Amino acid sequence: MDYDIIVVGAGASGLMSAIAAGRLGKKVLVIDQKDKAGKKILATGNGKCNFTNLYQAPDCYRSDDSAFAMKVLSCFNVDRTIEFFEELGIYPKERNGYLYPNSEQAASVVQVLLLECKRLGVHFIFEETVMKIIKPHYTLITLDKENGKEKKYYGKKLILATGGCASPKLGSDGSGYNLAKSLGHTILKPLPALVSLRSPDKFCKTASGVRTMAKVEAYGNHKLLDREEGEIIFTDYGISGIPIMQLSRFVAKALDQGQKVYLKLDLLTKASYEEILSMLQNRWNQNKNKTMEELLIGLLNNKLAYVLIKEASLDPIKPGKEISIKEIKLLANKIKSFQVNIKATNPFDNAQVSAGGVSTKEINEKTMESKLSKNLYLCGELVDVDGTCGGYNLQWAWSSGYLAGISAAKP
Ligand SMILES: Cc1cc2nc3c(=O)[nH]c(=O)nc-3n(C[C@H](O)[C@H](O)[C@H](O)COP(=O)(O)OP(=O)(O)OC[C@H]3O[C@@H](n4cnc5c(N)ncnc54)[C@H](O)[C@@H]3O)c2cc1C
Repeated sequence: MDYDIIVVGAGASGLMSAIAAGRLGKKVLVIDQKDKAGKKILATGNGKCNFTNLYQAPDCYRSDDSAFAMKVLSCFNVDRTIEFFEELGIYPKERNGYLYPNSEQAASVVQVLLLECKRLGVHFIFEETVMKIIKPHYTLITLDKENGKEKKYYGKKLILATGGCASPKLGSDGSGYNLAKSLGHTILKPLPALVSLRSPDKFCKTASGVRTMAKVEAYGNHKLLDREEGEIIFTDYGISGIPIMQLSRFVAKALDQGQKVYLKLDLLTKASYEEILSMLQNRWNQNKNKTMEELLIGLLNNKLAYVLIKEASLDPIKPGKEISIKEIKLLANKIKSFQVNIKATNPFDNAQVSAGGVSTKEINEKTMESKLSKNLYLCGELVDVDGTCGGYNLQWAWSSGYLAGISAAKP
């Protein structure tokens, strides 16, 4: 059968593009290699789907061309996204600007998208992997997972919405990069983003399970990459938490370039170095029987306090009478500036998103059409745009998918 538009990928951007094109009366086919649509959407926001955010700014979207995402977003912004989902039945629930469906079920988002696709007569093929694309009138060759046979589909226009390679078990296994490459596109090296970081430092294991507020600065070759603040979590393998995930894109890039990467943690953000020093001195003067470790009781988590003392090369059980002011200063310094070395990010399996992808230089930001291959459109995570935590990756998928869909539907 011949279709006006074939969409490869039934994820957030693919479903959105199919709806946008279907609403303009086009005959649309969506092909996906998984057994159902929107598998990744179901995993978003811990199953609650943080589908967008009221706060939008350029630094929420990262790319080699930082202006590209905002241009695309201006064509289908957050207000239009909320309106779009409200029309489909998603009543938004807001928490600090983060929007979720009121049902707090990611499944609701997938359901309304599929109901709309059904209303518009969008066709779906599941469990077939698009292996090859032949131009000019697009011929797609798929591999049927059930019987291992090749099949062919024809579409006047093609939308690639295959995602990147983060969380490949949800469908996005990176095969979309090869398809885009076969059509002439440049792929900026995909790297895991919104992911936890691995450290060679043994103290991470000792502090494993400790959650604490911190200001975090990431450095590559002693140059500040970026900074974040929020709750961090020490783990057996390293360090996690929202600020760490936000920084991970820059860390991944620096590591890929062979830089020495480390984090500097400020573990008591509300007090200055001088305030901490005087606090520790007061505790020390009040009771000289307290050991080094006991000086920190009630100030920091005891596991973390132990780690800081050890990392300052101090003795946790040294009695107060033998402690020197130099040692108290060393401790205060560790609390304000604690270094965690980073050797790697966690792999794509654990990443929420991929940084890198199809170069935006090769895509028209007004249409999402390829500048290299006529009637080919690219959208979603496949493209070199990744958002920070907070609903920005889905917003990018909705905006770029919508623009690709309406543009492909135009004569
Ligand atoms: C655990 C987790 C939680 C997240 N939480 C949030 C959140 O709360 N808010 C937020 O904004 N973002 C979140 N994200 C990120 C967000 O889900 C993704 O950026 C977004 O869903 C990407 O949409 P997409 O359409 O580009 O790609 P995908 O959703 O990955 O869809 C791509 C589809 O293409 C199919 N496909 C790929 N290659 C082929 C091929 N060759 N042939 C046929 N089919 C193919 C795949 O099977 C897949 O269904 C989260 C991600 C993860 C993993």
